[in-house]
Amino acid sequence: MFDTLSDRLNSVFDRLRGRGALGEQDVRDAMREVRVALLEADVALPVAREFIAKVTERAVGQEVLKSVTPGQQVIKIVNDELIAMLGGKDEGAGDASPINLDVRPPAVIMMVGLQGSGKTTSTAKIAKLLKDKQGKKPLMASLDVNRPAAQEQLAVLGEQTGVATLPIVQGQQPVDIAKRAMQSAKLQNFDVLLLDTAGRLHVDEALMAEMKAVAGASDPAEVLLVVDALTGQDAVNVAQSFTSEVPLTGVVLTRMDGDARGGAALSMRAVTGKPIKFAGTGEKLDAIERFHPSRVADRILG
Ligand code: GDP
Repeated sequence: MFDTLSDRLNSVFDRLRGRGALGEQDVRDAMREVRVALLEADVALPVAREFIAKVTERAVGQEVLKSVTPGQQVIKIVNDELIAMLGGKDEGAGDASPINLDVRPPAVIMMVGLQGSGKTTSTAKIAKLLKDKQGKKPLMASLDVNRPAAQEQLAVLGEQTGVATLPIVQGQQPVDIAKRAMQSAKLQNFDVLLLDTAGRLHVDEALMAEMKAVAGASDPAEVLLVVDALTGQDAVNVAQSFTSEVPLTGVVLTRMDGDARGGAALSMRAVTGKPIKFAGTGEKLDAIERFHPSRVADRILG
């Protein structure tokens, strides 16, 4: 992932570094190339535009061009703004967005997204992570009554991860399953409840109505949108649709192990206004990581 973008940016930077003095036009020319590289990586157009405007303003407006190492300074500005675009601050490796579980238990994590995005797998991965790394006692429940075998799929993942799942009651509707899951979690002292909601092939009104009803019934501490990094601009469009309808608190970007061009990762924060909280990095159930903007920026510019 990010390979082509990384190559393109580094060749622009090599040229900047190789020069002693830099004029305003040099910066503008370099930024034109950076813009093309971002768009080719599938970054949403308004996001790329804003990025270039910010970097250019900082680079030509201050003392940068008069400094001893103007190329280096411009590169530093690109790095800073890249981290900001990914949703972080330049604070080294510790800039992942926190998961909010600090509510009266059970803390509900509602997982939303389209079918095939990796929602069910990510639900199990996050539950396992919270259990193994944070000592939590999670319960998972599938609210997907549309797709045959969706509830059984989560039960199987529960067995594989050692995470409890809500027993399946055939014929029960999503909101009622959510309420039953809340009851169960309270009675059995589970401190986190992960709700794996139904996906559809496309965003539609029925799906959004169901998400709102489930959110209304379960008062989630986190609503995480799962999107597939490989789908590029589509992922951005999906995120835009969900953002306007459901109170998202963060994004899970799956298939970061694939050869996505990176546009979804780079646009997501600006489009949703919410941080990417987790990155899926493979099919195995421990293939998930907290998303660190500065580390990802390092990978792109490294
Ligand atoms: P859902 O329909 O959104 O619930 O999707 P699933 O969770 O069933 O996932 C669909 C497929 O994507 C499964 O084969 C998963 O193993 C796979 N998958 C999910 N996340 C990742 C990931 O981060 N990387 C890779 N390589 N595969 C993933």
